[in-house]
This record gives sequence, structure tokens and C-alpha cells, in this order.
Amino acid sequence: MKILFLIFTFQFSLALPLLFPFNEEENKIWEAMPKKTTVKPAKLHKALIYSHASGFKHSSIPTGAKALRIMAEKTGVFDATFTIKTEEFTKKGLAKYDLIIFNNCTHIQKAFAEDSQRKAILNFIQDGKAFVGFHSASDGGLPNWPEYTEMIGGCFAGHPWGAGGTWPFFVEDKKHPINRAFTESEFSFSDEIYQYKGYDRSKLRILIGLDSLKTDKKGNSKTNDYPVSWVRSYGKGRIFYSNFGHNKATWWTPFMLQHFLDGIQWCLMDLKGPSKSTPQKI
Ligand SMILES: [Zn+2]
Repeated sequence: MKILFLIFTFQFSLALPLLFPFNEEENKIWEAMPKKTTVKPAKLHKALIYSHASGFKHSSIPTGAKALRIMAEKTGVFDATFTIKTEEFTKKGLAKYDLIIFNNCTHIQKAFAEDSQRKAILNFIQDGKAFVGFHSASDGGLPNWPEYTEMIGGCFAGHPWGAGGTWPFFVEDKKHPINRAFTESEFSFSDEIYQYKGYDRSKLRILIGLDSLKTDKKGNSKTNDYPVSWVRSYGKGRIFYSNFGHNKATWWTPFMLQHFLDGIQWCLMDLKGPSKSTPQKI
């Protein structure tokens, strides 16, 4: 019976694009999505994915949501619940989830103005659960919710490196399992890259950095420290943030989807790897 069920679910997952025809964007995402996870998930985790922009609205929000839905369906790591509302973000509402994902939302301090909701989100992570932020999830917190900025690791303070450019990056933490998607220690990629305020390297473990000195743009860091993806521990919980995700194409780039999936599995403690801060390398 179990075997029959497995055959059915296997065939069903392969047949999914046929049963529910995908549009062109979804087809590209499905093709680019990893077929197999790096590690088997400990269970089917439950994710609450929030995609409402209270400030600037990225046109890639629906693309990110599609990618996270397809990631859930194809890999089986998590069950995805999508929302653009804030009602679920209470102690009781969040209790049934293992993971919160902020998909390109902006000005989060406006969406979560109530103290009780802010506490519910931060306590959720501190008590041992997971938080993942993509791109403009860091465009918020400051000025009136500094604890959010402290939690996610930095607040958007402009993007000297625009979405139309192709920028040089380096893999700062070559051994971290979240970086196994990157086969070279340096790579070029087109996306919009931020500088930050309220950023404190000593609280974060930087995974990917921008090699700003190889660009003709100058940002706000005296030491040219422009982190792009990072992790941290937060109480008993874990956080993964990546600046990538402004451009729609990021969401159908295979190595980026692998990086995102591994970051999610690390936060969910499926994947082992350090979170201790390391000094700046370049
Ligand atoms: Zn952006």
C-alpha cells in the first residue's frame, strides 16, 4: 500500500506541470529548481510566506512566490502557506509554523505596527524556529522597529549597484553547506545590490560578499564590506538572508535556487553548518 502511495505521489509530482499547465515563467522555474535536496528534510516543515510590500513594490514579488511554491512542491521540504495579510502573525497564529519567509516585502515596520505582533515574530525565532528574508525584506525595521533590523542583520540604505548591472561577487565562506551551489570562489551575476545601515558583522556569518573594489561604484562602508548573503543564530532559532532576488531572472537561476533552498534547510536545522561570525577577508 505504502509503495503504491509512493508511486502515486512520485508520478503525481512529475505530472504536476501537465495537470496544472504552467506559464512560461513557471516552466523556467520548475526546470531550474533542484530535483533533490542536499539533505533529507527531518519532516514536512510548515512555512508562512509573507509577500506584501508596504513600501516600494518589486515586480518580482509574484515570481518569488511562484518559485517558493514550486520549491515546496518539487522538493517536499516545506508546505507553503502564502499571505499578504498580517493576521496570522500572532503567538497563536504562528504556533503551527516552523518557518517565516519574507518575500521582497518592504517597510515591514508599517505592516507590523502593533507591539504584540512584533514580539510574536521575534519570539517565534528566539524560541527555536526559522526566518528567511529575500532581497527587500531588509528594506524596513529602522527607524521605528530597530529590533527587526537587528534581527535580520541590516537595513537597506540604497543600492549603488543597480539591477541592470552585472557585479562581481566572492564566496566568503567556501566550506559552508549553503554555498555548495557555487562551484567557483568568484562569480558575476546581475541583480540589485544593497549597502546597509545598522549592519554589524560581529553578529552575522557572511556567506557571499560583493567585490566592490572591482566596480566603478562606491558605497557607504569605510572598509568596503558589502555582505550579500548571510546567516545568524538568534536565540535558539536561525536566520538566513539573501540580498539576491530583485531581478525576476534570479528566481529561475539554478545555482541561486540551490543557494536559497540550502539556506532554508539550514534555518530549519535539516542542514548542519556554523553561524559564528568571522572577520572580513577583503
Ligand atoms: Zn530591489
